Amino acid sequence: MTSPPEEIVIRCPECGHVYKDWHRASINLQLDPFDDDYVDKATSSTCPRCNCKVNHEALIVRPNEIWEIG
Ligand SMILES: [Zn+2]
Repeated sequence: MTSPPEEIVIRCPECGHVYKDWHRASINLQLDPFDDDYVDKATSSTCPRCNCKVNHEALIVRPNEIWEIG
C-alpha cells in the first residue's frame, strides 16, 4: 500500500534552516501510478533558503522529531 503524506520538519544539511515538508514513507506504483516528479517530491525536499535538495532516505529522525543528517 501507499502511505498517506506525513508532515515532517527537516533541518537543511547545508545551511541549517529548519522547514516543514511532507513525505510518504512508501509508495506502491502498482496501485498508485504517480509520475516520477511526484515520487521525487514525496521522497525528497528542497530547502527554501539555499535550494539544497535532500533525499529523505539520507535523514534520521531525532527525538525532537526534526529530520536531519545523522
Ligand atoms: Zn538550506
